[in-house]
Amino acid sequence: MELVTDPKELQSYLDQVRVEGKTIGLVPTMGFLHQGHISLIERAVTENDVIITTIFVNPLQFSANEDLSTYPRNIEKDTELCLKAGTNVLFTPAVEEMFCDTVLTSISVSNLSSVLEGVSRPTHFSGVATVVSKLFNIVGPCRAYFGEKDWQQLQIIRKMVIDLSYPVEVIGCPIIRDHDGLALSSRNVYLNSEQREIASIIPQALQNAHERIRGGEKNTQPIKEIISEHILSSSQISVDYIEVVNGESLEPVIQVDEETRVLIAVRIGTTRLIDNINPHIGINPI
Ligand code: AMP
Repeated sequence: MELVTDPKELQSYLDQVRVEGKTIGLVPTMGFLHQGHISLIERAVTENDVIITTIFVNPLQFSANEDLSTYPRNIEKDTELCLKAGTNVLFTPAVEEMFCDTVLTSISVSNLSSVLEGVSRPTHFSGVATVVSKLFNIVGPCRAYFGEKDWQQLQIIRKMVIDLSYPVEVIGCPIIRDHDGLALSSRNVYLNSEQREIASIIPQALQNAHERIRGGEKNTQPIKEIISEHILSSSQISVDYIEVVNGESLEPVIQVDEETRVLIAVRIGTTRLIDNINPHIGINPI
């Protein structure tokens, strides 16, 4: 596995890879890797000749009051995990290598970026889209891998790729969960042991909704209420949003159909957690 920090060096290395007719798979991450990230790399390995994993804690997607400076990092462990999972090049640029002093350009995927997460994080997705766009330009991948864990992000990247004609196939990968169903996240490390136990209420609430839908409930209002009641059974959790939407347009729906997605954001203490399900399938713990 090669370690590269300079975008220009990566670009010229990959020019050569393309000349040789090899396919390139890109897995963008912010590091502090867990099995969710690894599942993306492993999927990329099965579908491409050369796998580029990136670790970049992207300042553009954090607002001033968010956890940029404390975001968990462990580059030694991440390097080992990337190697083991089959990464060929681990790209870990410094902020100064990615951006010059002032960045004047940004990509904004309107509408999709202002709902759900976008309500409390209005600049988040333009930060994400701008950096993903930059990574696409640096790497020139055939395929790029994103987790369904960040469902809204996945839809935004898909739309950006269509709107800007990126020659990239966006592959959405299933959510990897812990033994109790909690979606793996680098931010789970912020939870103390009591909060971590309480966090299992999130997948339980989503699973309740799934079971109610399997039982024939089609109206979304009672489904949201079931989730809300379950979540609020712990005084330590507060709800940011519970929404039932069309999975692609992210617009709220009043009746569940084949394209429906259920999304949730909560806070436990100071930690904000997100999750979502296909309500027809529910939770599949690992
Ligand atoms: P992050 O490092 O949090 O920016 O995540 C990098 C990529 O890994 C994103 O595409 C995430 O959606 C994906 N990811 C994070 N957690 C999980 C998970 N539990 N299961 C599947 N993919 C995930």
